[in-house]
Amino acid sequence: MKINFIGTAGLVPGMGLTITGKRGQLTMQIDNDYLMEVGDGALRNLNANGTDLNAIKKIMISHLHSDHFIGIVHVLFDMMHVRNRKEPLEIIGPKGIERATRGLMSLCELPVANDEKRGYELKFKELGAFEKFDDIQTVRGSHPSEAHAYRISRNGRSFFYNGESSFTKEVLELAKGADLFISTVVVLKPHLFHIAPLDVGRAATEAGAKRVAVIHWPTEYEGKRDEFAKLINKHFKGEVIVPDDFTVVEV
Ligand SMILES: [Zn+2]
Ligand SMILES: [Zn+2]
Repeated sequence: MKINFIGTAGLVPGMGLTITGKRGQLTMQIDNDYLMEVGDGALRNLNANGTDLNAIKKIMISHLHSDHFIGIVHVLFDMMHVRNRKEPLEIIGPKGIERATRGLMSLCELPVANDEKRGYELKFKELGAFEKFDDIQTVRGSHPSEAHAYRISRNGRSFFYNGESSFTKEVLELAKGADLFISTVVVLKPHLFHIAPLDVGRAATEAGAKRVAVIHWPTEYEGKRDEFAKLINKHFKGEVIVPDDFTVVEV
């Protein structure tokens, strides 16, 4: 399984997560058929990567905070107007994902909001506390906005992704033994509900993960990704990858 870290930035102004023009907000492409998160600038980076958006079958969202989600409008609009998509698209996420997606499209007064004009069907899946379907498993975590962690398994390999939930017992259980443990990092020092490098290192060790990749990493570490990896390595002995936009990792 190939994971392309199309966009790696988050946005929490004042916490080193400002926008610099160097990186797009979160988007990952899994093989050629899934997208995980669609932050601001997702379409720009997907186009720069040469992604075939008509091959995408599912878009998964961890939670509705804008740096994980707001780029969806342009991706859906591009599928309609540029790609002339006909195949249905599944959008998976927390409770409210359908209302939020449809709401954004209609607030922006875009024709893609109209089910007939769009030309392709949108199928929504709102996640419960635990889910298992196709090659996907999810659990509901804990964050100010309802957040879900994912695990995707293909050909005997699996990766885990936590897009900002605290590492609850259930989230850690989902991560157990994953070949790649992907997490966002939001703050440098431990915080009530934002993930710090220490939390990722400890959680990956506890889950017995083989490798770690961190995204949403702070602007201060642009050009110094090795230094950032060392912060995680204090609590995790395996390989730590700090992907830049378009870094591809084979799982
Ligand atoms: Zn975020
Ligand atoms: Zn968030």
